[in-house]
Amino acid sequence: MTHIALLPGDGIGPEIVGAGKRVLDAAGDFTYEEHLVGGASIDAAGTALTDEVLGACRLSDAVLLGAVGGPKWDTTDPGAPRPEQGLLGLRKGLGLFANLRPVRPSPALTASSPMRPEVIAGTDLLVVRELTGGIYFGEKTRTATSAGDHCVYEADEIERIARVAFESAGRRSRRVTSVDKANVLETSRLWREVVTVVAKDYPEVELDHILVDNAAMQLVANPSRFDVIVTENMFGDILSDEAAMLTGSLGMLPSASLGGDGPGLFEPVHGSAPDIAGQGVANPLATFLSVAMLLRDGLGLADEAARVERAVDAVLAKGLRTADLATDAEGERRVGTEEITETVLGAL
Ligand code: NAD
Repeated sequence: MTHIALLPGDGIGPEIVGAGKRVLDAAGDFTYEEHLVGGASIDAAGTALTDEVLGACRLSDAVLLGAVGGPKWDTTDPGAPRPEQGLLGLRKGLGLFANLRPVRPSPALTASSPMRPEVIAGTDLLVVRELTGGIYFGEKTRTATSAGDHCVYEADEIERIARVAFESAGRRSRRVTSVDKANVLETSRLWREVVTVVAKDYPEVELDHILVDNAAMQLVANPSRFDVIVTENMFGDILSDEAAMLTGSLGMLPSASLGGDGPGLFEPVHGSAPDIAGQGVANPLATFLSVAMLLRDGLGLADEAARVERAVDAVLAKGLRTADLATDAEGERRVGTEEITETVLGAL
């Protein structure tokens, strides 16, 4: 039986993961185990991620996480445990080298996007970001008047992220755009070379290469031209936040982090929202869309994933809005976590 580890975490985490579990139950037949992570784990065990929890996650088929952190655990003491160490520990412990962020503005929410509706119409893209290499992890040097950050990529690091991108594209519209700065950077020239070789194994997927400055421009000028964007760590960090703004709402953004052979980690992009925790008003839709990614990218259940996405769209089309999405336009109705969850379950 497929086994899912649930890590609610802190703040609104338990509310949104609880709702996410109900959506999972409606989409398939799974077993679950719930574990502490982040601040909740610091309170119980003195550390943001215990070896037992990491071990249990390793044995699962997929991990659904809420969010970690909150004022209770904010500290300036460098020796004190911090909630986000739980996330870093999971990424490292599960070998998660690929971060996937889909951007698919819901038709009913185009009014919340800062972009003109005709520009974002038809946008449905996925940013695949390399997560464990490149300039963020290279050697750092510093004197009083000079500083350096060394950017290194090994061919096998590029190859494995390229495979994630091509395989994802195979489940989508079969187009990969590889983003680099090959006119200037040596790492980008190796990137381009390796991605081009990997592409030969995926003849059904079309590949193009564009420079990162052009990609930044195209993302706002013509976002619907993209299907899967694959890029290195720093470019992906910047482009995925830029792409996220196309949807206009933090409460709608899911993400997945995938590794080699173990389970993937699926979580909403937003944080633990301590300001609204426990009030029953949190928007669970980013978690539901993370559940859809868990089904598609974690378990290979593409039809079930599409059903969840359609149910989310249907509920928004009916005008239901949690407070963070509300614009008080005609036809909208403000609802809390429970009612929007019930309505999504009904649509499923
Ligand atoms: P946040 O994303 O938690 O909240 C930003 C704003 O958006 C808040 O006003 C919040 O109420 C609102 N919001 C966020 N998610 C929402 C949802 N699902 N429904 C309705 N409203 C929502 O970011 P923050 O305030 O900068 O950080 C709060 C805590 O979360 C911090 O401790 C931070 O470290 C942590 N954090 C965790 C993660 C993670 O676990 N992946 C990510 C970002 C921040």
